Amino acid sequence: MIAELKNSIDLAEVVRKSGIELNDRGWGLCPLHTEKTPSFKVDSDRQRWYCFAGCGGGDCIDFTQKYHGVDFKTALQILGIDTRRQKITPQMRKELQQRKHRADLVKRFRRWEVVTSNKLSFLIRNAHRLLSSIKTPADFERYGNLYHPLPVWECQFDILCSGNDKLKFEFYQEA
Ligand SMILES: [Zn+2]
Repeated sequence: MIAELKNSIDLAEVVRKSGIELNDRGWGLCPLHTEKTPSFKVDSDRQRWYCFAGCGGGDCIDFTQKYHGVDFKTALQILGIDTRRQKITPQMRKELQQRKHRADLVKRFRRWEVVTSNKLSFLIRNAHRLLSSIKTPADFERYGNLYHPLPVWECQFDILCSGNDKLKFEFYQEA
């Protein structure tokens, strides 16, 4: 089982081998984004890593996938987890499916994030342009109704720019 093979791997060692320095308490500079102060932490008790700046977290397989930009199978190879010699158990298949499902969800969410922020930025820019062009009552008649949705669009746009995945996800679920 992948979980058993995985347990024989020390995450901190995998991270250090990738050239990332960790202090005694497991903190280091996150290799997944550029930063000057460490927000990346390896929890050796739980064998999980986490980036508090928003890169996410996970186990040694997640780390290898993200760090090398490879798929699950390649990550297993890099980690030396040889699944070919293993019999594929229903449990393993289930685990693979779950990982794929999670990865798909994240991909869909990220795509929505890009599309929606582009759309909102376009709407906001245009609304401001039209509202500032109002000079006559007739103009107001035509564009005045943009005053209502504009604060909502701006608030949503702020959420997407804030980098806070929790808020973004709430918005995603509402949308
Ligand atoms: Zn990070």
